[in-house]
Amino acid sequence: MIVVGAGIVGLACAWWLQRRGHQVLLVDPAVGGAPEPEAGGRSGSRSALGVLMADLFHRDRGRAWELRQRSLRLWHLWRTELGRRGHDVPHRAGVLVLAAEPAETERLARLAAAKRDLGLPLRLWDRQRLEPLLPSLPRPCLAGLHSPRDGQLDPGAALAALAADGQALGMAIRAQAAAALEPHRTGWRVALAGGGHEEAAWVVLAAGGASVTLLENLQGAGTTGGPLEPVLGQALELELAAPLPAAWPGTVVWRGINLVPRPDLEGGRRLWLGATLEPGLGADPARLADLRHLMGAAPDWLSGARVLQRWQGLRFRPVGRPAPLLEQPAPGLLLAGGHYRNGVLLAPASAAWVADRIEAGGDLPSQP
Ligand SMILES: Cc1cc2nc3c(=O)[nH]c(=O)nc-3n(C[C@H](O)[C@H](O)[C@H](O)COP(=O)(O)OP(=O)(O)OC[C@H]3O[C@@H](n4cnc5c(N)ncnc54)[C@H](O)[C@@H]3O)c2cc1C
Repeated sequence: MIVVGAGIVGLACAWWLQRRGHQVLLVDPAVGGAPEPEAGGRSGSRSALGVLMADLFHRDRGRAWELRQRSLRLWHLWRTELGRRGHDVPHRAGVLVLAAEPAETERLARLAAAKRDLGLPLRLWDRQRLEPLLPSLPRPCLAGLHSPRDGQLDPGAALAALAADGQALGMAIRAQAAAALEPHRTGWRVALAGGGHEEAAWVVLAAGGASVTLLENLQGAGTTGGPLEPVLGQALELELAAPLPAAWPGTVVWRGINLVPRPDLEGGRRLWLGATLEPGLGADPARLADLRHLMGAAPDWLSGARVLQRWQGLRFRPVGRPAPLLEQPAPGLLLAGGHYRNGVLLAPASAAWVADRIEAGGDLPSQP
């Protein structure tokens, strides 16, 4: 089978299928480190912060909830398995969402109660519990909701681990763009941009915005998954004058901005800050400045930090439909895309859906 696209979703699909005994060919011009074809910066996966928010999700039933919970379980298993074979994926447990307004405190308290009823270990931290951290937190900060099972993994390490282990298991790689797709005998033919083609009984499309273009040019597909709109995100890597306090609880979220410590880098003096939400392809310097200074609320240690890197990337959001799109547009053809802000989190559950679909023979209802 052929997987088109080697972002986190395509790589997760390719690795999981290969790991389950299928012969996989992964097609992506950027897979060997070549420049990426997406406009607007790095691909989503190469710009993501890797924050995994499953238990903190505002719902507690339905498709999106199930996908998040399945992914959380799978990431744990996958990281363990990859680590055993020498491919570590650094992971930091814990996400603390801060409340900057009284209404947000109430919302977090309701969420904590609802999730406690499900047996999940979310805890509301009042000002007293936050006290040791307060000097280092942005203000206002009225309360926090801490989720110990949520966390953050290094997306770059995850991409590298899936690619290396997949190849060790026999996965093949073609560093080219897919230019077109057409039905061929009992399967599919993928034309490559550099000339030539590849054929397989199953094709999985996980090429970000390019998946829709490939589908649009395909006559007779039952559904194209609908349009995807790009939402650009900017992010920063900062060098801190001193490591964060030992009590820092993992990723901290304030007014939707993630403060992601990187304790594995430079003695804990690195922090990722992101990401902006900018519909379209253009990056706004004013939005980056707001991010850099937390809209004027950055504590001194953060304001004084040195910017080491800034980057931007695209996330693709389905228009008028819930993310992600996990669909079968035609027999033997699967679409795994439109993951918007949660592709790193949802990659394992998406791959599991793809494998389930292929192994069931493909004649199942369209949505997971
Ligand atoms: C700044 C930022 C921060 C983010 N933070 C998080 C986070 O903390 N947690 C989280 O879960 N998610 C986060 N996301 C979202 C996440 O990155 C995306 O949902 C995810 O990367 C989507 O993965 P993907 O594999 O579907 O697509 P992409 O990462 O876009 O990968 C698509 C791949 O397809 C390839 N391709 C394109 N055209 C072709 C073609 N014609 N033929 C073959 N290959 C092709 C590209 O080279 C690319 O490798 C963030 C996104 C951004 C931009």
